[in-house]
Amino acid sequence: MTNIQTFSAIPSTGLAIITGSANWGLAFPEDVGAPGVALLARDLAFETPYGVSENWKLIEFDASITASGSSKTALCMYSHGNPRDHIDHECHRRSFWVLMQAGVRRVLACSTIGAVNKAIQPGDLVINADIIELGQTPYSLLPGRQRFDCSGKQLVCQHCAGVLEETARDIWPSSCRVHGVSQGLVAAHAYGPRLTSPAEALAYRSMGADIINHSIAPEATLSREIGACFTPLAFVTAGFNDYMDRSRGQLLQEGVLPSLSMTASRLALETAARFADDEACVCHDLKSPQPEERYTRY
Ligand SMILES: [Zn+2]
Repeated sequence: MTNIQTFSAIPSTGLAIITGSANWGLAFPEDVGAPGVALLARDLAFETPYGVSENWKLIEFDASITASGSSKTALCMYSHGNPRDHIDHECHRRSFWVLMQAGVRRVLACSTIGAVNKAIQPGDLVINADIIELGQTPYSLLPGRQRFDCSGKQLVCQHCAGVLEETARDIWPSSCRVHGVSQGLVAAHAYGPRLTSPAEALAYRSMGADIINHSIAPEATLSREIGACFTPLAFVTAGFNDYMDRSRGQLLQEGVLPSLSMTASRLALETAARFADDEACVCHDLKSPQPEERYTRY
C-alpha cells in the first residue's frame, strides 16, 4: 500500500518561531496555555526543492496582545528536531525555504546552551550578540554564487533582541540572570547531537566564545539569507565546571530544563507577540544584490 502524504499551501506570514531544546517535553504552544494565543493548525507538511518539511504549526496572536493592535499569525516548528526519527542537519534549509516562501521577516529561535564563560551560570538567559561558526552553513539558500552578499555583521537583530530582553526582565526567574545583547556575548556553533567534549569547550572558549549552541548558526545565517531579523532565546543547562568535570559522565544539570522550559516557551510567545509587524529594520538591508555583470560575465 502506498502512503500518500498531503501537502499544504504555505501560508503568508511575517513571523516565525523556531522551537528547540528550550521547549523540550512540551507541545508548543498548546501546553503553554498563553492567553491570546491560538493554534490554527498543526502537523502541516510542505513540499520544498530539498524534500518534504513536516511538523509545522500555524498559530495566531489575538489583537489584544500584539504591538500593532491587530491579530497576526506565525509559523512554528522544531527545526533541528525534524525529521522526528533521525538526525538531518539539512532540515534547516528546508524549513527556511518554507519561511522564505511565507514572506517571514522576523525569526525567533529557542534553544538551550552550555556556558564556557565562568560568569554565566545554569538557568541564565543569554541573548548573544555574535556567532562563531568556522565552517558556516553548508546548506545555503542563496540563488547562484555571485548574486548576493550576506553580511556577517549584526547577525542578531538589535531591535528584536531589545524586545526580548525587556520581556524577559518581567518573566525570567529572579534567581537567574538575563544577559542582554548589549553585553556582546558570543555563541559558538557546534552541530549536535553529541554534546561538547571538555577539549572542545576549552577550544571554543579560547576562540572567544561565551556559550555553545547546537542550532544557532544555520538559523542565523539562513535568516540573513532570506532577509529576516534573527533573535536567539536561549538558556543555560550546563556551566563551565560541568564541561570540565571528567569524573562525571553527565554534562547537563538535572532539573534546569524542566523547570525553565515552560517559562522560556511563555517568554517566546509574549516576545513574538510584541515584535513590530512591518517596521523596517537594518537587518533587512544586510543581504545585498550584486551587480549583474558579476554573475552574467564569466
Ligand atoms: Zn532586525
